[in-house]
Amino acid sequence: MSISTHAADFTSQADLSAGLFGKKEKHTAKTLQGTPVSPGYASGTLVIYRSPRVSVIERRFIEPDEVEKELSRFAAAIDHAAGEVSLIRQQVAADVGETEASIFDAHLAMLRDPLLNSHVQERLRKDNLCAESALAEEMKTFCEQLTAGGNDYMRELVMDARDVGNRLLRHLVLDEGQRPLANLPENSVIAARDLTPSETVSMNLDNVSGIATEQGGPTSHTAILARSLGIPAVTGLTGLLEGATPGTVCLLNGTKGTVVINPSEPQRKRFAGLRRQFEQSQHLMRQMENRACRLTNGTRIKLRANINQAGDVNLANEHHLDGIGLYRTELMYLSALSPPSPATQCRHFRRAAGACAPRPITIRTFDFAADKHPSFLSIDPASPMELRGLQFALNYPRLFKSQIRAIVRCARDFPNTRILFPMVTGWWELQEALDLVKAASEEEKLEQPLPVGAMIETPAAIFALPEIVKLVDFISIGCNDLARFTLARERNTAGQTISENALHPSLLRAIQQIVRTAEQANCPVSICGEAASAPIMASVFAGLGIRELSVSPARAPVVRYALRHVSLETAVNAAERAMHAAPSAAMKDLQQTIPEELQKILSLEPVTKHLRSGLPSHQRAANGVPAAS
Ligand code: PEP
Ligand code: MG
Repeated sequence: MSISTHAADFTSQADLSAGLFGKKEKHTAKTLQGTPVSPGYASGTLVIYRSPRVSVIERRFIEPDEVEKELSRFAAAIDHAAGEVSLIRQQVAADVGETEASIFDAHLAMLRDPLLNSHVQERLRKDNLCAESALAEEMKTFCEQLTAGGNDYMRELVMDARDVGNRLLRHLVLDEGQRPLANLPENSVIAARDLTPSETVSMNLDNVSGIATEQGGPTSHTAILARSLGIPAVTGLTGLLEGATPGTVCLLNGTKGTVVINPSEPQRKRFAGLRRQFEQSQHLMRQMENRACRLTNGTRIKLRANINQAGDVNLANEHHLDGIGLYRTELMYLSALSPPSPATQCRHFRRAAGACAPRPITIRTFDFAADKHPSFLSIDPASPMELRGLQFALNYPRLFKSQIRAIVRCARDFPNTRILFPMVTGWWELQEALDLVKAASEEEKLEQPLPVGAMIETPAAIFALPEIVKLVDFISIGCNDLARFTLARERNTAGQTISENALHPSLLRAIQQIVRTAEQANCPVSICGEAASAPIMASVFAGLGIRELSVSPARAPVVRYALRHVSLETAVNAAERAMHAAPSAAMKDLQQTIPEELQKILSLEPVTKHLRSGLPSHQRAANGVPAAS
């Protein structure tokens, strides 16, 4: 990634008058190149967000006369945290039950623990540490002692202690003026080191015109969220926050991956021109919206939507899609202080299923990750989670059963409902989940069977596929995680494009193998990872035998447009060649073989940008990338 500053002639009124008096100052714009993760053009006011990362507390010392102030900050943090925990306890007792609620009694006891309190106070007085440093160090020692105890009970206590410690630290850090993103000025372009999905959803999104981060890649959960919300976003912007001044004008190009802070007049004009061009191409694609998605030879490809909340179904309907292929349900947990009850969840599901009917709606059970988990679960965001997907859910039976019950209830009223399990790795765990569905269906007196699907997103699932397909009604390939676990690449890595991963021959061969195994078992198969939203990849997938794609609704027009310009023969041949070529060579080949009409549209696409250079990413970084707006 490169940073460049741009000296340009000034043309604003203030600059002109300065020029009249001969004080011609240089206009300095800062241009950064990152990874485009959500297309579109945003211009607005730069808002800098520094997330309070409670796991990384710097050691800070105070003056002796500040001790009293720190002691009262610490006492206030305890009061706030205790108030919050009491509220959660009440909600859990009402929604889930007394047994679960009692977990929070332990949290309350820890918060008021006299020993912990006196230790922290001592560190404040004797070592002159500020409240958060003293607390962070005491919590660390406390957790280490508990971990050394080595038994399950102690380990559980460590989780509770971390949760309590993080909650307290959050209050202390927030006291220092680092407020969440609730009050944003209109047309804000948010600049941050990174954003978690919960931070993203806590923003007043109506006022957010763009998102720029130093970290994260195209399949990070925040990037996915930005795409589905239609907010232009760029990640991997090294040096973004260095010397950045809040309130400066900022241009963000989510299609090319550039961000210009304090742009010159020529840069603004050029940006406005590109924005117009982008809007015209969007318009062109929209005109095809109500046509069926077919390849030029007539092969039908079902196009479904990936959504995050019930309201997103409207977007899928606007784009004339064939239903919902992936309803990620994590969001309703992220914004909740306590586990949502089956009734609450069911309300969301019914709303979505009703809006989607009679087309299918595929509700995926929760798949929490280190950067995407509810605050009521004690998970340390700094350490990777031990289990993911279905394995994780089976470890939280109450939470899992309550979600299954809500989905089953929804299916009672809306037979278009389907259930999908994430990150399946073995048929026996899938069987456990099916048993839970069966029990809930009997209890809820569901008359028709609920169609069940498994996500194939780990190599383990591919090896277990012959058994898995016998148990389910459909499978869905999650190629974001499949790429991660097959190619040993971090999912959130900045600088990698979606196609760079998806065009890896091993991934393409894995997908081909999945399609063949599913076909033999007569089991429908779709792809719902982000690569399906990249038009060039959508045609390669069609060439591999995929007949159903689930995409971000905002990406549906370009995917449909691309597929309607490609024949099955072209797609099959391209896929065949790609399975035997390096990703950069495959991309070049694809670009040369697609119709010219499509090439023009794809040149505006973010996902092909890096591969066009044909250089591996480390060389690209060394060579720099053009700093265009
Ligand atoms: C995937 O991994 O491709 C997928 C669709 O699941 P998620 O992005 O929600 O992990
Ligand atoms: Mg996944």
